[in-house]
Amino acid sequence: MERYSRQLLVLGLELQQKLSELKVLIAGCGALGSTIAELLARLGVGEITVIDADIVDITNLHRTHLFTEDDVGKPKAEVCANKLSKINSTIKINYIIDIIDEKNIESIIINKDYIFDGLDNLYYKLLLNDAAIKMNIPLIYGGINGEYGSAKLIVPNKTSCLSCFVDYSNTGEETYNACDVIGVTPLIVELTASIQVSLMLKHLRGVIDNSLYYIDSREIEIEKINIQKSISCKSCSLREFPFLNQKILKPKCGIFRLPTEDFNIEKPKVSKTSGRTILCYPKIGCFEKRGS
Ligand SMILES: [Zn+2]
Repeated sequence: MERYSRQLLVLGLELQQKLSELKVLIAGCGALGSTIAELLARLGVGEITVIDADIVDITNLHRTHLFTEDDVGKPKAEVCANKLSKINSTIKINYIIDIIDEKNIESIIINKDYIFDGLDNLYYKLLLNDAAIKMNIPLIYGGINGEYGSAKLIVPNKTSCLSCFVDYSNTGEETYNACDVIGVTPLIVELTASIQVSLMLKHLRGVIDNSLYYIDSREIEIEKINIQKSISCKSCSLREFPFLNQKILKPKCGIFRLPTEDFNIEKPKVSKTSGRTILCYPKIGCFEKRGS
C-alpha cells in the first residue's frame, strides 16, 4: 500500500480496494488505449487485458504514451503489456494479439467489470457498444479527431448508449470517407483518456453520469451534453444489436483477420505489396491492414 500512499489520501481505502479487485478490458492499445492502460496500471486496477492486432509504427510515436523508437515493428498489445508490468508489477496484465469482431467479442469481455474503448474505427466502436449492452457490462467510450475529443460512460439499462447519438452510414462511398487518415495531437489523447478513466472512478463512487463530454483542446473547453436514451435505438432500446448480428456492412478499412496461417515464422513479419499491408505473428496468424 506504500505505493498508493499519496493516492489513498484522495481516493480512500474503500475505493483503492475496489480498484484492486477490478478486471478491465482495453480494446485497442494505440494512442487512447495505451494512455488509458498506463493510468489504470498506476491507479492499481487489479487486472488489465489489452487487445490489439497492429504493430507499432513510427507514425504512432508522436501521440502514443507508452511507445518508444525501440518498439517500432513490435506488436502493440505485447509492448503495452510489457510496459505496464514495469510500471506496476503487483497487478495482473494480459495481452491478446487479435482484432475484435462479432465472433470473439463476447468471449473476450465476459467477466470484465469495465470495457474501455480505445478503438479508432466507428464500426468497431459500435460493435463494442452492442456487445457491452448485450452482456450488461459498463463501457467507457472515447473518440479523438484533430484537437477535439469526446468521452461517455455507458451503463447498460441505466444510461444512453453510443448508438443513441451516433448515426452510422454504411453506404460504400461514405464508409471509405470515414476511413480517411485523421490528424491528431498528443494533447487531446491525454485529455480524453483522463476523462474516460475519471468516468470510471465517478461510477465506482456511485455516480451514474449520462453526459457526453466534448473536449476542445484548442480553446481549452470541456462541454457536458446530456444524452437521453433514444426509444428507437437498435442497441439499448430495441436490443437488435445490428453490429453484433452483422446487419451492417463492415467498413473497407481497418485490420482484418486472414484465413492463412503463417506459423513458420519466429518473429512478427510485415509485408507491404501494392498498397496492402500484411501482418503475421508466430502461432497466431495473419492480418491485413486496409485503408488508413
Ligand atoms: Zn442506445
